[in-house]
Amino acid sequence: MSKTVKIRMYNVGFGDSFLIILPDDRLILIDAGFHSRGKGEFSGDELVEQITRDVKALTGAEEAHIDVVICTHRHADHLFAFNSSLWDEVSVGEVWLPWVEDRKNEKAVRLWKKQASFAMNLANALASFQLNDADRESVEFMLWNAGVELPGMAAAGGWSNAKALDCLHEGFGYRRRTKPRFLPSTQKFPESFTCPELPDVVIHVLGPPRDPELIEELDPEADGETYRALAMRAAAAASGEAVADMSSLAAFGPEWQVREDEGGADDLLTRNEKIWLEKLATGADALLAATHVDDMINSTSLVLVIEVGKARLLFPGDAEWGTWKRILADDDARALLHNATFLKVGHHGSHNATPKTLVEDVLPEGIPAMISTQEGPGNYRNNIPLPDLVTALGEHDIRHVRSDQLPERLPKGFRKGDDGKWIDLSIPC
Ligand SMILES: [Zn+2]
Repeated sequence: MSKTVKIRMYNVGFGDSFLIILPDDRLILIDAGFHSRGKGEFSGDELVEQITRDVKALTGAEEAHIDVVICTHRHADHLFAFNSSLWDEVSVGEVWLPWVEDRKNEKAVRLWKKQASFAMNLANALASFQLNDADRESVEFMLWNAGVELPGMAAAGGWSNAKALDCLHEGFGYRRRTKPRFLPSTQKFPESFTCPELPDVVIHVLGPPRDPELIEELDPEADGETYRALAMRAAAAASGEAVADMSSLAAFGPEWQVREDEGGADDLLTRNEKIWLEKLATGADALLAATHVDDMINSTSLVLVIEVGKARLLFPGDAEWGTWKRILADDDARALLHNATFLKVGHHGSHNATPKTLVEDVLPEGIPAMISTQEGPGNYRNNIPLPDLVTALGEHDIRHVRSDQLPERLPKGFRKGDDGKWIDLSIPC
């Protein structure tokens, strides 16, 4: 029988959790998250129970062992289930995290302090003005995901993003490599490596950027590369109106970036950022500021191509346009993507996580894709997954399944498990 690699997408609602089963039965877990306002088939403990049960069944072992656990970025919808104490019963080979989670890296620490300072300022300002329901839903959804605790929003049982990160840093019943591997580990781009836990696998790291300034360089709409920008332009052209200024949708322009000569370690926000936060006056301002927090964390996502035999599995986390721009400008990175045999659609199918060039010019036609997603209330989720993106995938014969809408008949290669609690996909390798 020809060899296959299997990908299991758990239906966690709004979030990601994927188990990769290699031909030699070694296992990779990518993310174990959910958003409390977008739950799927599992509560947190239930997801861990399910994964543990699956791992034992797949390996035939009495104790659950996962060779590599990966967390793409620190959003709740990617890591919240790592709060569960049930991980104490699971042993792991290695844990992989983006380099910004290295607590000994000064640049990383500074980045998070700045982000926390910005988010807390925003959270404090929120109470001072009225938001319409859709905007409030969106703002709260993004801030909760970022781990900012607004009054009445704390999770039950003391679960938090910070506690989940602690598990990834030092938790689990046993870990062969005690410290996490922080990726990319060098300036080389793309960075490729092998590891003893996965003898027949080559990992290619395409994100996040090593440079914190690139992580903060958020320019999602400017280049006409996102499906939302294209849809808005088409709508404007059809109605004969002037094309809307896309730059107004970008959370921050260059004036909001920290300059070298501004502010010390204790003064992370620029004067302009502080003034801007103090001047928050409308729901639209608050929405933009919350989007900034959301985009920045998404920009820390690991972007991996997992090479197993002839299979190339593309897992871009929630990386947004800033990260993609750099990837698509590099010939070696493009070549990797051009040979992809699977796509995990980025950021639940949002407007700026899957560039037009990637779908139309770089990825091969006819590959399978998975979208772990859940539509919901508020302006944030009622466009996820973006219809134009879903249409474009179809037009390029990228056969895809979304976790929140399972058809009776799944496309070739996909298989539904246990009442839709997960979906399996087998890929030749
Ligand atoms: Zn996400």
